[in-house]
Amino acid sequence: MKKALCFFLFLFVFHLQAQERPKLVVGIVVDQMKMDYLYRFSNDFTNDGFKRLMDNGYVFHNMNYNYMPTFTAPGHASIYTGTTPSVHGIVGNDWFSRKLGKEIYCTDDASVKTIGDGTKAEGEMSPKKLLTTTITDELRLATNFKGKVIGMSLKDRGAILPAGHFANWAFWYSKTGAFVSSTFYGEKLPDWVTEFNNEKHFMTYINKGWDLLKPLETYNESLADENPYEGKLNGANPVFPYNLKEMLEKKNAEILRATPFGNDLLLELAKKAIENEELGKDNITDFLAVSFSSTDYVGHNLGPRSMEIQDTYLRLDLTLADFLNYLDKMVGKGNYLVFLTADHAGAENPLYLKDKKYNVDNVFPKDILKGLKKFSVETFGEDLVLNCSNFNLHFNKDLIKAKSLELSKVKQAFKEYLMTQDQVKRVYTEEEILASNGADFYLNCIAKGYDATEDGDMVILNKPGYIDHFIATGTDHGTPYSYDTHVPLLFYGWNVPKGETHDHKDITQIAPTLAQKLKITFPNGTEGKVLLEVLDTNPNMINKKTTK
Ligand code: ZN
Ligand code: ZN
Ligand code: ZN
Repeated sequence: MKKALCFFLFLFVFHLQAQERPKLVVGIVVDQMKMDYLYRFSNDFTNDGFKRLMDNGYVFHNMNYNYMPTFTAPGHASIYTGTTPSVHGIVGNDWFSRKLGKEIYCTDDASVKTIGDGTKAEGEMSPKKLLTTTITDELRLATNFKGKVIGMSLKDRGAILPAGHFANWAFWYSKTGAFVSSTFYGEKLPDWVTEFNNEKHFMTYINKGWDLLKPLETYNESLADENPYEGKLNGANPVFPYNLKEMLEKKNAEILRATPFGNDLLLELAKKAIENEELGKDNITDFLAVSFSSTDYVGHNLGPRSMEIQDTYLRLDLTLADFLNYLDKMVGKGNYLVFLTADHAGAENPLYLKDKKYNVDNVFPKDILKGLKKFSVETFGEDLVLNCSNFNLHFNKDLIKAKSLELSKVKQAFKEYLMTQDQVKRVYTEEEILASNGADFYLNCIAKGYDATEDGDMVILNKPGYIDHFIATGTDHGTPYSYDTHVPLLFYGWNVPKGETHDHKDITQIAPTLAQKLKITFPNGTEGKVLLEVLDTNPNMINKKTTK
């Protein structure tokens, strides 16, 4: 009798305490974050940032992109829609559109206008090219549009795509140093954003400059500060300390992007959003999507082995710690759900590998295009190449028709030519890509990243280690190889068990997992493969899973 009473009392109390949904979901994307940064810099991290998430949450050690091209816009779209570019339609940051016959940008939208202190072009942006719903869209639908959704990033695409079609707001950084938005979201910026912009917070960081956070000997996981694989940083030599005031005077507030302080400025805005929009205050779940981009800018310019990238991650660790403390204070420990991942990873610098006697190199798109055009004129008497970018080759089909050439023969000839090039691994035609049955791993990655209404007539796959690059220093990304696809995934907070797994997982599993956790509809393009590890909150089951 007593036992039964205790049991019912337990159920009653449990019912009172258990929320069906978290008050707030915080999605964190770290642009160009490689999984191995969590290991490589771990001795220098505090216990309160990345390690707080890892030690008290769930670590997916083997999370991977499952398509090519691994760029920022497709990455963010795939995380939030739970599907790949072949379905959600975001096949690049910018791409040559088969439908329109011109280069387009992923979030371009001439029907809307900039709001806030930005240029005309900076705010002509919306998620209209995104063909499927996001997890944030489904939350809006599920809460009758009462749960708020806000996306923010230094990059327009990093803010707009995660926030989805029904977002309350998306904010991104202008070269004026202000955060801007577009009339897609509202007629004018919320007052708290305007106030934040007027206070010119970015200048605090500019005035301080950028020096190493810790003593020089801490950076023994990186190459020397000045090394031949680093490019210039906004015109400055790649050596600490950086005089940001001088850099600002030569350019504009954009220079903050390629410093760790772009992330700090974004966190300041995130805190203001939580406070002023009352995110996580009532019991209707809100969603804040934050994408930290400075890591990508620093990576591109200086490479994954630079002291600058290490310093950027050591500082991001502090930024995260600050963010989590703020969430504890404002939303309450256990009331919010966090996930942290990346939109793609990044390659080693090819010159560095080459110096270590690995036979790889940079590939310059300009040279590839020149070679293709020359081959075309020599073989067919005409330049049949309409465009070659993002690994996609488009032919001038009107010209092929006018010359009474057979498209299949043209394709075959170009394929044979491309296969003679050092860097080329395989070349696939549209027909081969659409017929992919999943058996060829890399063809399957290409098929999942390919939208036949937009993409090229052929897709070129380079050999591993080669980078399609505009400059020889720093790094890039885009391939289906593990250095570009292997990213972290950390879950933490509301109903997230402690644990870790080394099972192979796909990036498209995040959104449907969130949908199941929130008990809402799947985003409409997802196959619905979920991460059981963070859904099964029975501790006995979890122990069994993590030991296999
Ligand atoms: Zn990116
Ligand atoms: Zn350096
Ligand atoms: Zn990038």
